Amino acid sequence: MTFEFSRMVRFNKVQIRGFVSAISLSSIFLIMFNSISPAEAHVLKVKHEHVKGGCTGELTIDDNGIRYQTLHTRDQRQWTFTDIQEVQFISEHKINIIAYEDSRQRLGGDKIFKFELLGEVIPVSVIQLVESKFEKPISNRFSAGNLPGKFELAVKHLHRVSGCQGKLIFTEDGISFRSEKAGESRTWRYSDLQSIASSGRFELRLGTFEHGPLQYGDSKEFRFRLKNPLDEAAYRFAWGQINQLPLWRAEVSGK
Ligand SMILES: [Zn+2]
Ligand SMILES: [Zn+2]
Repeated sequence: MTFEFSRMVRFNKVQIRGFVSAISLSSIFLIMFNSISPAEAHVLKVKHEHVKGGCTGELTIDDNGIRYQTLHTRDQRQWTFTDIQEVQFISEHKINIIAYEDSRQRLGGDKIFKFELLGEVIPVSVIQLVESKFEKPISNRFSAGNLPGKFELAVKHLHRVSGCQGKLIFTEDGISFRSEKAGESRTWRYSDLQSIASSGRFELRLGTFEHGPLQYGDSKEFRFRLKNPLDEAAYRFAWGQINQLPLWRAEVSGK
């Protein structure tokens, strides 16, 4: 709880700073061009998956949120980022959006809007836009290109039964799990991680905010068996990134 609170404080300060610099930047642009350029919008042709079949339409993603327009009007939606709980990039063609609507199919669960792109793949710029605007959990299942990793750990990801093989890459921005199995890779920003823990030199657990199958107790934990003894420097680095001191504490102790 304390941790949640401190993260909130940190975000607010960052937001305020971002806001102030956005104001000064936009005034410079106003002076230079004497006009405001419209927010960048990405329009993707998609199929919305139903239990049986689906409808097709356009998914528009911009600074304000995500909009789905279709002739099947009862499925039309306009979400601000506040209206969205979680965004999941399932594969290079699939995006899931979990809003706060109850699902009639999943008793006690939230409704998941599943979209599949018709033709093109999800542009990297769309992922970057969502990553920069959306502060709630993003489940990113891409095994992104060649990230400059600070640390790499060979691991087995433990499933309820059996597991999958891969490696964990710790970067400045987050942790990436590259799995040999399709659909198992993940990329988390540090803000998408709740905790990092280890109860032995060959074991590592990552607590994420990823949506579990139920409404309650729904954060998902990823457990890994390490193929080499845990690199303490890697652990300390990631722990520090996840549990950063809130700004107000850093300022007080800095005096
Ligand atoms: Zn539909
Ligand atoms: Zn796995």
